[in-house]
Amino acid sequence: MLVRADMHIHSYYSDGRMSPREIILEAIYKDLRVIAVTDHNTFRGAVETLRLARGHPEAPLVIIGNEVRTDHGDVLVYCYEPINTPRSIPELIDEAHSNDCLVVPAHPFDEFRKGIGDLVYDYAELWDAIEVWNASASKKANRKALEAAKILDLPGLANSDAHIPEYIGIAYTLIEIGELSPEGVFKAIKDKNTIPHPGKPPFRLLLKRLKWSIKRRMIPRKATNLETKH
Ligand SMILES: [Zn+2]
Repeated sequence: MLVRADMHIHSYYSDGRMSPREIILEAIYKDLRVIAVTDHNTFRGAVETLRLARGHPEAPLVIIGNEVRTDHGDVLVYCYEPINTPRSIPELIDEAHSNDCLVVPAHPFDEFRKGIGDLVYDYAELWDAIEVWNASASKKANRKALEAAKILDLPGLANSDAHIPEYIGIAYTLIEIGELSPEGVFKAIKDKNTIPHPGKPPFRLLLKRLKWSIKRRMIPRKATNLETKH
C-alpha cells in the first residue's frame, strides 16, 4: 500500500509548539498514515506520541525519531526504541546501525540552520536516505540535497519539519509499504520505495512559524514547557 509519511516533526519536548496529542490529531486530519516525531536531541516527544497513539485506530503509525545536533550539523535517526546519540557523525551512525535504526541527514545544505553540507558525500554509503526536501529550507538547499541523493543513489524523503500544527504534512513522502509497521517503513525506505512530495508553506504560515520562533526565544525554556504542558 502507498501511504503518506511526514518524518520530521517537533513537539514541545524541543522547540515545537505542539503537544503529542495535537500532533496526532493534525496528522489524522492531514491523512498521514506514518509520522516520525524528531525532537532535537531527545526521544521523549516521540515516545510520548507513540504511547498516546497506541490503541487509537485512527492514529498514524508513530516512528521514534530524534534530530541529533552532531558536531557538524543535524542528522535524523529513526529507531525502534531510544538509543544513545553520540555527537560525532561516525559514532552516531555506528550506534544507530547497531540498533537497526535509519540515519538520514536533515536539510543538509540549509544555509541558515545546521546542515552537515558536503559531509553528506564523506559518509556516502552509510546513510539510509537523504532529506531531499525540507519545507523550511530554501529552494537552492533542497535542490542540492536532491542532487546529492541522485549522485549517491540514495532514497529521498520530503518532510515538513513542522514546529506548529499547520505545517504538518505540507511536504510528505509517499512510501510503498508491505505492512504498516516500523519494520515495514524502514524496509520500504531501504528498498527505495519512496516518492518525495515537496511542498512549501503559504506566506501566512511562514509568518506564523516566525512568530512562534520569536515568542519561544523570548520566554525562558522551562517556562515555555510549563506553560504548554497541561
Ligand atoms: Zn527539525
